[in-house]
Amino acid sequence: MSEYRQHAAPADARQRRNAKPIICYSVDQLPSYDHQFYQRARSQLTKVDEVIVPPRDAASFSVPAGHFFRITSIEGSQVGDLNLFNVHNLQEHFYSGKTRQLHASHLTVGDRLWSNLPSLRAIATITQDTLDWYGWDQDGAGVHDVIGTRCDPYTNQLLKQTDYHYCCHSNLTRALAEHLNVATSEIEPLIHDVLNVFMCTGFSKDTHQYFMKASPVRPGDYLEFFAEIDLLGVLSACPGGNCGSSHSDDNTPCFPLKVEIFKTTDENLARWSNSEISKYSGSHGL
Ligand SMILES: [Zn+2]
Repeated sequence: MSEYRQHAAPADARQRRNAKPIICYSVDQLPSYDHQFYQRARSQLTKVDEVIVPPRDAASFSVPAGHFFRITSIEGSQVGDLNLFNVHNLQEHFYSGKTRQLHASHLTVGDRLWSNLPSLRAIATITQDTLDWYGWDQDGAGVHDVIGTRCDPYTNQLLKQTDYHYCCHSNLTRALAEHLNVATSEIEPLIHDVLNVFMCTGFSKDTHQYFMKASPVRPGDYLEFFAEIDLLGVLSACPGGNCGSSHSDDNTPCFPLKVEIFKTTDENLARWSNSEISKYSGSHGL
């Protein structure tokens, strides 16, 4: 914290601070995003399933590889916390930290959702985003972030000394446990950092603290994905609602979210194949 700073800047502080920023990972080296392929595939969609996520709760959904899924705001401005798993191996799931490093702090069309180590592969690709007009606002905020984690009852207890049971972490845990018909204690460690769908966030300019502000999402807005592998998704309609005031409580109006699953034609998928796991040998030098 800056109030505890004790050291005067050295004589060459300015020179040290002027080192040139280098982008850590070159996105050009990633498997290329074939915009034409995804746009053609999404132009011929047939809806095969629909799930409504109740407010302050979560629901699961399955998306076969090669299908699309769309998360839509209905009834009111609402933020969603998304977990994605390999349906055949739940140990492989979305890795928000590496996704942030490979793409950016906030995601949009053309960005991939990557899975954790040792698989590290694209498990989904964002194919449409009706909030892509938002960009970066005057506060430095954007939408659909991978910098926050998910609201959880432990942090809430730490800060407020109260138990609240409908944080996204708990909602995701209950929904996954119910889907798999197992105890919540067994499944809770699999719940991971989320993609904050529709959430508008950034870091404050003065203290670089994580902040949220009312989401620009309105009913009808959606974020759409293409499943690069067979996916199990779990989505929580955050108790923070549009995240314009508070979260981890019952104070904010909350609304449901709609998840739709779409199939494209076999012809469109002819030139597409399942995403493959990392080719690293796994020896770690031994
Ligand atoms: Zn939440």
